[in-house]
Amino acid sequence: MKGSTLIYKTLSNNRGSSTLVIVCTIFVVLIISALIIDVGYFAVERFRLANSAEDAAVKGVDGLLKGKEEAFKLIREYAVKRVNDLNDLEIRIADNCNAVTVNMGRSYDYVFLKFLGFESKKIKASVTVKLSSIESFRGVKPFAVEKRNFVFDVPYILTASGAKGDREISYLPLEFNDIDFKSHIIFGFPKVLKAKDKVFGLQDKNEMVTKEGLDMLIEKCNHTPKCTFNHFVKDCSRLMVIPVVNKISERDPMQVEGFAAFWVEETLALDGKTQIKGRFVKQAVNSKVNDGVLNFGLSGVKVIR
Ligand SMILES: [Zn+2]
Repeated sequence: MKGSTLIYKTLSNNRGSSTLVIVCTIFVVLIISALIIDVGYFAVERFRLANSAEDAAVKGVDGLLKGKEEAFKLIREYAVKRVNDLNDLEIRIADNCNAVTVNMGRSYDYVFLKFLGFESKKIKASVTVKLSSIESFRGVKPFAVEKRNFVFDVPYILTASGAKGDREISYLPLEFNDIDFKSHIIFGFPKVLKAKDKVFGLQDKNEMVTKEGLDMLIEKCNHTPKCTFNHFVKDCSRLMVIPVVNKISERDPMQVEGFAAFWVEETLALDGKTQIKGRFVKQAVNSKVNDGVLNFGLSGVKVIR
């Protein structure tokens, strides 16, 4: 009897120890799972906050082209709308208005770890977005203008019959081998044109085709309400990107120095030549940036984390 009692006690002790081990194991697994889930959620939320800060800063540099106040307004509106529990927002704009830094902070409430006494942790994100010159562009229109300091948002006339005064600039229709002139006006050059590339003046000019093509750009605006200079959509057909060259020449190759954005107001026929009325504008586009290229109003966005 004594022997069987001993065996029974040993078995009972073993069973008790096993139960304890199982309970401890479950407890440890639960803690580790809670830790993994919370750390995972935290990483996801930190990633989302970093993205929100970047998007807000990109919106800010877009607004910066219209002034500092517009940049502040757009960033604040975006941050409040997009980020839950935002409790920290710092916006810095560079003195020369070419960069925006956004610092954001919010608190993250732990899902499971709060049962172990961890309530919340602060998430922070910081990003700087800089406007830089673009070194290339896909979709330029076939009109070259000579480099100079453009005044933005004021009326200009691009003329093919000799510029007079400060608000007239001579333009030269361009010829590219891979595309006919009218399609080029309407759809833009389908390949990438880079700074330092050479472009050539159109040899067989047809003023009727030039005017028709440009008028189609105006008609092609399908935005509602119709775009005007004071309120237009960035991808509007009336906003054309044109190459700025070192020197206009009908015979010699011209070197591309940079890119300008020109809003087409209307076209006029004068002495059988087409004049383009419009304004140079500052725009941010999605294109490769290069600080070494001259800036004529068209900029790309560079993100620095
Ligand atoms: Zn439009």
